[in-house]
Amino acid sequence: MAHRYLVLATTVLCLVIAYTTQLHSREDRILKAPLQFRKTILDVHSHIACLNSPGCYIRPGFKDSFKFKMYMKASGLESTDLDRWDADDVMVNAYVKRLNESELYNGAIVYALDGYYDQNGNLDKSKTDILVPNSYIYDVSQRARNLYFGASINPNKKDALAELELVHSQGAKLIKWIPCIMGIDLKNPPPHVDKFLDRMKELEMPLVTHVGGENTFSWADEKLCDPRNIETVLNKGITVIAAHAATSGKFDQKPGFTYLLDLVQKYPNLYVDNSAGLFVNRMGFYKNVFLNNFPGRVLQGTDYPLSYVGFAGFQAISLSQFKGEMNSFWYQYAKRTKNIHDLEAAIKIGLGTTLDDIKLSYEIFGIPYKSQN
Ligand SMILES: [Zn+2]
Repeated sequence: MAHRYLVLATTVLCLVIAYTTQLHSREDRILKAPLQFRKTILDVHSHIACLNSPGCYIRPGFKDSFKFKMYMKASGLESTDLDRWDADDVMVNAYVKRLNESELYNGAIVYALDGYYDQNGNLDKSKTDILVPNSYIYDVSQRARNLYFGASINPNKKDALAELELVHSQGAKLIKWIPCIMGIDLKNPPPHVDKFLDRMKELEMPLVTHVGGENTFSWADEKLCDPRNIETVLNKGITVIAAHAATSGKFDQKPGFTYLLDLVQKYPNLYVDNSAGLFVNRMGFYKNVFLNNFPGRVLQGTDYPLSYVGFAGFQAISLSQFKGEMNSFWYQYAKRTKNIHDLEAAIKIGLGTTLDDIKLSYEIFGIPYKSQN
């Protein structure tokens, strides 16, 4: 009798083990993306900070902040590694590795970030949290075949025009501004800003400018990031990419992106990027803003590493909130992928981003589709 129970118990145990093993392997199985989507996406909005390469600057107070340490962690640098002599290389390598391992991403435009300049055109270090010089990002783009050079020049700096000529000759794909931390007034641009914009137009250099609320840095003069201000640039015929489509912040009691809806009807040279669009503070916005309101005008961006910074136990990107709206294959793909870039891309594709949407990013910056440096 006891023997029969033992056989029965062993059989049941074996069945349970077999079932759970099978269940486990089914859950763990990574899905392959459809061929036409593999290695296709160009990320038009991403950042790399630098700590000790020539010209790099982090304001000491900002360097000690919790915020900054979170950004560094998302860039692949633990807080114990901040003093490493090769910290900058660690960050570049972590980013390149993530892109190379991605099944869906092909490459990325990575941004320099200029500082705040006083009335004499000199750098004001007390108002600059982070400065990532063009020379550093140019150098990074020369080392990594799938990273492209996104320059940043504050037009208020002394030699802004000469630097514009230089970065253009180095193949910069765009100029990046965050007007509310750089002190750039686009609503009533002073003559030197006007002149800088005219030269950008002549060089056919696109402008990526932050619009909407800004909370990445220690301070911001929000009115300078009012989406309505970019009309000055649009009027000149310059290609403008309104970063994040102003999905955060209100201006005169109205959400920032509502102003872009009017501008996009009026100006064929206006685009938005969907960087940080899946971040938890923009919850519920994504489909409505990016897919329904700006058809044919949305460029693909991540805002790496900022979009991957999770706070207080929250995932930076929440897959579950999109479950009901996503195509089921891409939901399963997103659930199983180990690559956080692919997770983000799968959500966007699963919500309706098409291959034509993906190709638009190449077109705007004159990069041949799926090519690499
Ligand atoms: Zn950004």
